[in-house]
Amino acid sequence: MIRFASLLLFSLLLTSAPAQAQEARKPVTILISIDGFRADYLDRGITPNLSRLAAEGARGKLRPSFPTKTFPNHYAIVTGKRPDNNGITGNNMLDPRRPGVKFSLGDPKQALDPFWWDEAEPAWITAGKAGVRSATMFWPGSEVAIHEVRPPDWLRYDEHVGYAQRVNTVLDWMRRPADIRPAFATLYFEAVDGAGHEFGPDSAEVNAAISNVDARIGDLVAGLAAMGQPAQIIVVADHGMRAIDESRVIQLADMIDLPSIIAVETGPYAAIEPAAGTDDRVAKALLKPHDHMTCNRREELPERLHYGRNPRVAAIICIAEPGWSILAGPPTWPVKGGAHGYDNQDPQMLALFVASNAGLSGDVGIIDNIEVYPLLMELVGVAPLPSDAAGVLVKARR
Ligand code: AMP
Ligand code: ZN
Ligand code: ZN
Repeated sequence: MIRFASLLLFSLLLTSAPAQAQEARKPVTILISIDGFRADYLDRGITPNLSRLAAEGARGKLRPSFPTKTFPNHYAIVTGKRPDNNGITGNNMLDPRRPGVKFSLGDPKQALDPFWWDEAEPAWITAGKAGVRSATMFWPGSEVAIHEVRPPDWLRYDEHVGYAQRVNTVLDWMRRPADIRPAFATLYFEAVDGAGHEFGPDSAEVNAAISNVDARIGDLVAGLAAMGQPAQIIVVADHGMRAIDESRVIQLADMIDLPSIIAVETGPYAAIEPAAGTDDRVAKALLKPHDHMTCNRREELPERLHYGRNPRVAAIICIAEPGWSILAGPPTWPVKGGAHGYDNQDPQMLALFVASNAGLSGDVGIIDNIEVYPLLMELVGVAPLPSDAAGVLVKARR
């Protein structure tokens, strides 16, 4: 009897083991951001892994939303809403409803406060409500309890977490049993942006960072293949990068006494609030033609920027001619290397887009980055919320 039972067990094991190995895994959708990966970096011949994904799938150029900065664009990509509508109108912002504080991506106290993020709902929350599990290996907003919800798996942003570890974390998530395995994951790399700022877009350092990130994406693809995990991989960047230098500087102090203004943001664009009682003087000094810079009241920005209706947008927005830098007094950062934040029509602000196994093929051309959101939702099988996107990428699949 015992022998019969053990025989039965043995044969059960024999039949169930291969079945387990061949478990039909549902495809995971992985959204990867390579911060500051300008669209044309893909043509440098140093990205074997990304180029293979593009050749087997699709590539294009993402037009960032204005301002062409990190936080507004990462949030646009996962909400389908431009900064005016997603609430993250800058890396730095003020809100008249919360006087005396400044949102800044480097200040966790404000950056992690849902107040700033609650104007939109990112993909991982909507997916979660539909029973689709998400996991974020960094993404701006993912560590914030937006509408009181975080992704089931998330990590506090720490640039010191190595890239191999980030990739292994995603692979570990995919090794989990099906019921706690994510169907949507994000992954984020900042080194290409960092090297672009410090050394400029045409530097050897940028190329080294590109090669490194490309190799880690190769590791991810190989790791997924080794476990038989099908994946729909969307690789994006938030904006491009443009060379700047000290010879191309616009000094606001030459136009207005600095105590009259609050410079919420400076650099490729400047966000300026008049200090109390100085409105007329500030308007007179700034709202006129300047060399290498255009200033507008936020209500009068060109319609194509879709920017200025949110009360978090500063009263006056000045946009530098590409390559120029707007300063308010002595620079707080070295004016060299590279920068972004310019008009989103600047071709050098265009960002990477590669889609693998996403039902897209060939070159999809220039696409507004808000269009990534409906594509993601389609891939994870969840109805998207109303957004600013027209569904261009979803239609391109059919
Ligand atoms: P930017 O100033 O627009 O170039 O922003 C890029 C910087 O954003 C990178 O150097 C990152 O260190 C930083 N960053 C990216 N994600 C996060 C995050 N979740 N929290 C705080 N900082 C972040
Ligand atoms: Zn960025
Ligand atoms: Zn940057």
